[in-house]
Amino acid sequence: MIFDTVKQSLSSRRVLIPVEQLLMDAQGSRMPDVQPSLLTAEIARRAADACPTTALTLEEADGRTQLVLNYADCVACGRCIEAGAGAFVAAQKLACCGATKSGLVRRWDVASGAEIVSSEREMENSAREIRSLLGRALNIREVDAGSCNGCEAEIVAITNPYYDLERFGIHFVASPKHADMLLVTGPVTRNMAEAVRQTYAATPSPKLVVAVGACGCSGGIFAGSHATAGPLDAIIPVDGYIPGCPPTPAMLLSGILHVLQRRS
Ligand code: SF4
Ligand code: SF4
Repeated sequence: MIFDTVKQSLSSRRVLIPVEQLLMDAQGSRMPDVQPSLLTAEIARRAADACPTTALTLEEADGRTQLVLNYADCVACGRCIEAGAGAFVAAQKLACCGATKSGLVRRWDVASGAEIVSSEREMENSAREIRSLLGRALNIREVDAGSCNGCEAEIVAITNPYYDLERFGIHFVASPKHADMLLVTGPVTRNMAEAVRQTYAATPSPKLVVAVGACGCSGGIFAGSHATAGPLDAIIPVDGYIPGCPPTPAMLLSGILHVLQRRS
């Protein structure tokens, strides 16, 4: 029986997600997006009130009310989608995976519903550029700085045959001494802060640091706890942020690729 299953598996067609499909793909993440045509002041207020973190807020700026969505603080609870009467939907694409911290913030003018585009350059969805970057190998050291292990479960998934991280020349390594990039999860607990500093110091330059998940980006649901010393950028310099709680494997891959793209 087991041999039949293995035989069938070996003879079946190999299915890989093309890189074009991975870029910006946020399906299944429960991160919100906004339908500007349905946004009203009342819906924006209701959604901001429903948000259990500071991810959704209303701000007065330039004489107008702005809806601010900070993906760094978003724990993907879906409450804004429930309260948003169709104006908030599950994001299909998320251009900010791998962005700088300011690139995780989006704004809409509540009166007109129009998105206020940030000055940060939009990350381009260029598979050709990504492929040329990935001619080089990249070694990643994953660091769990107090995560609930939700992010680790998704990071493990990017190494499975479906996402197949290794096809890009990207490998996980056991020592920071062999790493080009640190992929750090968790809010950085007090007990892990020194370990994170030492891991950073042990990684040869030039090096990249990517904060993973709401915890890595902002502290997530643990932000402000007496047990945390983070978020990560309070401990070591960070080059890119991948939001989500947890980010999906596609968001992780897209974020890693975009950080490489930005730093090339
Ligand atoms: S999904 Fe994110 S933005 Fe929406 S309510 Fe939850 S934490 Fe706030
Ligand atoms: S971001 Fe969410 S899934 Fe990832 S470690 Fe924090 S709580 Fe867990």
